[in-house]
Amino acid sequence: MKFCNQCGGAVSLRVPPDDNRERYVCERCEHIHYLNPRIVAGCLVTREDRVLLCRRAIEPRRGYWTLPAGFLENGETPEEGAARETWEEAQCQIDAGPLYTLFSLPHISQVYMFFRAELGDATFGPGMETLECGLFTQADIPWEELAFPVVGKTLTHFYNDRVQGEFPVRTEAIRFKRR
Ligand code: ZN
Repeated sequence: MKFCNQCGGAVSLRVPPDDNRERYVCERCEHIHYLNPRIVAGCLVTREDRVLLCRRAIEPRRGYWTLPAGFLENGETPEEGAARETWEEAQCQIDAGPLYTLFSLPHISQVYMFFRAELGDATFGPGMETLECGLFTQADIPWEELAFPVVGKTLTHFYNDRVQGEFPVRTEAIRFKRR
């Protein structure tokens, strides 16, 4: 960040009074710009032992397989965002919920939330950001070509939990070393 979104003045990184970490503070109007983690919401859409995966048409990780997911928009609940992303990426109209996996990625200031959803009689097809999509059994999943670690972890939880038929919320912090 270089300029204040309130007055257009230059900002500098400093610790404001009564705070304990650096913020972008406007040198002209003193406005403090708080930056907070972003939420990514998505769906694990299933039909019996098969899961809906999308092959990405956009960077990052173009050509790799993912669960439909994306950044939450203002004014949305995570469930609404997850369902919207599932529609946009897989042209699939489902109700998102219940919450299944919750990943914290503090090194990139993101929180991922995946909701379970039943495919039911819904149809699907590739949206603008998707090259192709399809239903995969555990054996058919392209495990070596998944776009992000959170995708593989969610799929692994699903097939493990499916043995018991219970799907408690799974949480994990995924940390990578800063260079
Ligand atoms: Zn300002």
